[in-house]
Amino acid sequence: MTTGTPDLPQIDTSRAHPARVYDWLLGGKDNYPVDEAVGERLPPEARDGARQNRAFMQRAAAWLAAQGVDQFLDIGTGIPTEPNLHQIVQRVVPTARVVYTDNDPIVLRHAEALLVSRPEGTTDYIEADVRRPADIVDHARKVLDFDRPVALSLIALMHFIPDDDEAQGIVRRLVAALPSGSYLVLSHASSDLHPELAAQAVSEYAKGGIRLGFRTRSGVAALFEGLELVEPGLVTATEWHAAPSDPSPEVSGIYVAVARVS
Ligand code: SAH
Repeated sequence: MTTGTPDLPQIDTSRAHPARVYDWLLGGKDNYPVDEAVGERLPPEARDGARQNRAFMQRAAAWLAAQGVDQFLDIGTGIPTEPNLHQIVQRVVPTARVVYTDNDPIVLRHAEALLVSRPEGTTDYIEADVRRPADIVDHARKVLDFDRPVALSLIALMHFIPDDDEAQGIVRRLVAALPSGSYLVLSHASSDLHPELAAQAVSEYAKGGIRLGFRTRSGVAALFEGLELVEPGLVTATEWHAAPSDPSPEVSGIYVAVARVS
């Protein structure tokens, strides 16, 4: 079954979609019973993981903007959830330019919320699959200047590409387009921090028709090959730049890191 009028993206409500399950996990309203059914069967920790991941995105984006980065290419953006990346970075650098990308029609349908840029800056949205990195970069060049640093964010995305060689190849190709001084920000569900929960989550997503490949620490580290990790390196989502007032961050099953392109 699909909903929507001909001029709007067609939404398939007969099977679960990653962006909508994630929206459900975050407590959002832009999901359907089929997505909720997958979310309900996931271990309850999956909701903590989604919240921790989103909070990491916000801290990392603010950190990058504070480094002076004013161009962002965000792939696997998800359904808009305030604050979105452009809102975070434009608070620090109002002229920041952000290109958002996702391959799920529901994100396109809600993209208007992503396109409300501060007047000094720009936001742009393209529907594209990360498996076509050259198309994404070609489009992004219309909005971003690839002769100046760009932050590439692949946040909770690469576990949707279970094949290691394919995932590494995609990241390598995207990073190759970035000039020196650029950054890669990535978060990824782990298979080895809480192996039983991870196996249960992968299996429940698979029952819902969504293929996922969570990775070990070394599998995630391999996605950063050749890059220089910034402090504190590859850690869990809650450990990355935890607030000084929070000496013992919550347990997390999400690996994250930020790396600089030299
Ligand atoms: N980055 C956001 C959303 C993460 S949910 C955040 O961290 O808050 C993962 C998103 O990746 C979903 O919106 C899903 O539609 C998108 N996605 C999954 N596979 C993709 C692919 N092959 N190409 C582009 N986007 C993809």
